[in-house]
Amino acid sequence: MGSGQVTDWQGKHVTVAGLGVSGVPAAKVLHGLGARVTVVNDGDDARAREQAAALEALGVTVRLGDGATLPEGTELVVTAPGWQPDKPLFLAAERAGVPVWGDVELAWRLRGTVPGKPVAPWLCVTGTNGKTTTTQMLASILRAAGLRTAAVGNIGVSLLDAVLGEEPYDVLAVELSSYQLHWAPSLRAHSAAVLNLAPDHLDWHGSMEAYARDKGRVYEGNQVACVYNVADKATEDLVREADVEEGCRAIGFTLGTPGPSQLGVVEGILVDRAFVENRRESAQELAEVSDVNPPAPHNIANALAAAALARAFGVPPQAVRDGLRAFTPDAHRIAHVADVDGVAYVDDSKATNTHAAEASLAAYGSIVWIAGGLAKGATFDELVARSAGRLRGVVLIGADRALIREALARHAPEVPVVDLDRTDTGAMLQAVQEAARLAQPGDTVLLAPACASMDMFANYNKRGDAFAEAVRELGAGA
Ligand code: ADP
Repeated sequence: MGSGQVTDWQGKHVTVAGLGVSGVPAAKVLHGLGARVTVVNDGDDARAREQAAALEALGVTVRLGDGATLPEGTELVVTAPGWQPDKPLFLAAERAGVPVWGDVELAWRLRGTVPGKPVAPWLCVTGTNGKTTTTQMLASILRAAGLRTAAVGNIGVSLLDAVLGEEPYDVLAVELSSYQLHWAPSLRAHSAAVLNLAPDHLDWHGSMEAYARDKGRVYEGNQVACVYNVADKATEDLVREADVEEGCRAIGFTLGTPGPSQLGVVEGILVDRAFVENRRESAQELAEVSDVNPPAPHNIANALAAAALARAFGVPPQAVRDGLRAFTPDAHRIAHVADVDGVAYVDDSKATNTHAAEASLAAYGSIVWIAGGLAKGATFDELVARSAGRLRGVVLIGADRALIREALARHAPEVPVVDLDRTDTGAMLQAVQEAARLAQPGDTVLLAPACASMDMFANYNKRGDAFAEAVRELGAGA
């Protein structure tokens, strides 16, 4: 399939794999372009039938309950990003020489197909943790520079809407997951950042190497800058392995003093030694650490990565500061809920893996840690060993709490642990009450579960809401 000009699509047999948030809009767009679209979906529940009926009314063919068979005559498969690469449908496509694109690849190919609409370059963000925050910071900075932009991809506006909708953009701040990158073979960003790399989603990718390879795809063909984390060598290795445009630069970010071609921190100031006239001898002040909300170390790293991408796009220093000041983080990301009896209560329910929880724990001095849930195959020894010195106490909840308890027994045997085996709706209130009992004035009670929430809650939002509600009850009774 060619460049994605509208005429290429007339009568093409396209199979869309998966109904849902990316499949339904993709099917509609492809149908609108004149393609002959068949949607295949594993599930056959009420919701799927409803979506299928709506698509069929448009003239799209839908096959429910069979996501494995490649429809006869398929010339292209467009897949939901979450579908695992070893599915029979993809193996069949491979055997038949049929390309497979994800939603990101489709959007990338459809750039420039709306007459009169400017083609916006993409500034891309990926990594194990911090993607949403960094992408939103980046959008805020770009906006402060007077650019028409949006945070898109895994968040906010969908990529297809950004590319095909009426709204004109000068540049897009694009969050990309490892799944999306896996299915985006021809994506070429203006500049991109890999924030960090820690084991996650290995069941999907098959191995750490495969996961890293997919993350590294974000650097392929970059034009201006590949932004990496100086503290995370794996991200720098990915830059080295990438095939980029001539003149594209490797730009590091660090919480320490930056070297040439890096952004970093000097005496509480975020500084740029990459996009300045004389980077051997001079540095440009961008913002103060206190302009970053919240100024936790990992969040300052996020701000530096966002600043690097914005500076690569030519944004002036002042806009970095203004954009960071204007940024407010999404809910459940180290959100300060309340102070009760001199103890701060912080909701980082979004810390759903050990790498995120470790960053979160590193941001506070003396902590009562509320942790546990679904471990997703993780081990907790490193996290507990590195964080032990900060723990006043621990309250454990959820299905896999024994794994954390055992790690605590090995690496922090002196830290008091309360183990809650209830999973009903009152469990979080009890967890917060137990944490309050363990805490002393000046401490932080931190919900940073290092686990997924689905054993006890619908999602991490609901878990964070339950925490905030429990803290309010605690405050009311104080
Ligand atoms: P993502 O979109 O990658 O899931 P978010 O910005 O939503 O990232 O942050 C998710 C969680 O990851 C936060 O609640 C915090 O615990 C942690 N986190 C954020 N930034 C970083 C970082 N740079 N390094 C490690 N952990 C981070």
